[in-house]
Amino acid sequence: MKTRPAILLAALLVPALAIGSIKPVTMFEKIISVHGTYLESTEPMQCGTSPIGPEAAARITSWFERVAVWPNFRHMYPMGTWEIDAAACSVPRTPAQCLADLDAAGVPYEPVDHVKNLIAPVKITGPVGGVLLVASKDVIIECELASHLPAMAAVLKAREITQIGILSSHRPQAECSFHAMGLALDVNWMKATHWQRAMWLKSDFEKTPELLTCEAKHETGMSRTLVGAACDLWKKRVFNTVITPNYNEGHANHFHFDVRPGDNRFFVR
Ligand SMILES: [Zn+2]
Repeated sequence: MKTRPAILLAALLVPALAIGSIKPVTMFEKIISVHGTYLESTEPMQCGTSPIGPEAAARITSWFERVAVWPNFRHMYPMGTWEIDAAACSVPRTPAQCLADLDAAGVPYEPVDHVKNLIAPVKITGPVGGVLLVASKDVIIECELASHLPAMAAVLKAREITQIGILSSHRPQAECSFHAMGLALDVNWMKATHWQRAMWLKSDFEKTPELLTCEAKHETGMSRTLVGAACDLWKKRVFNTVITPNYNEGHANHFHFDVRPGDNRFFVR
């Protein structure tokens, strides 16, 4: 039986009119109304082991001003762990200080000019601490993230991981995402020397929806290696955020790691 066009049109209009009669709310405003904003204030948090001087405090505030009103996405999904660790918090540096720290740590990089939303953009030009970042395009990230790569490499090398697949890094169009600021990496595979093939997050990571990510037992060696690496990166405070496929469907095929200058909270799921 054919549906008459007039009835079909009416059926389509009813929900449209109902939506039109309430105040339009963006998706992000709706999330904020339920879960709050990312920060309550742009005042510096306790960060690092020594008192924060006025210049560092101003830098923290200027970072926080960029992100404070973002939705607090982490409260949307269950079983996340968010720990405060002021001693492990990274105080943002000046670009010159940060680049000098990359030099001192032996990070292979080239400075890059004029990258949207980035303060001290760098291109990673070789393996960091024996770990190769494999990507289909240049890995251009904020210096503050690059400076955490040697610590990441140390964690991965301890599990014989020598290559990682970068699914994405800087995404200038990403809304309310640390990718937009060059502070995040998405990793979709890792290669350890003791296995012939790469470990893929999509198929080799065992999701454990009922259990905290770092307390779950995994069946296969590859999944144990993947979750072990992720949890070490969180426990050692290499990144402020470690998201695994346990977090949500959007992360079913990758780890998301990010660095949040001045933020003393460390999240894993
Ligand atoms: Zn990501």
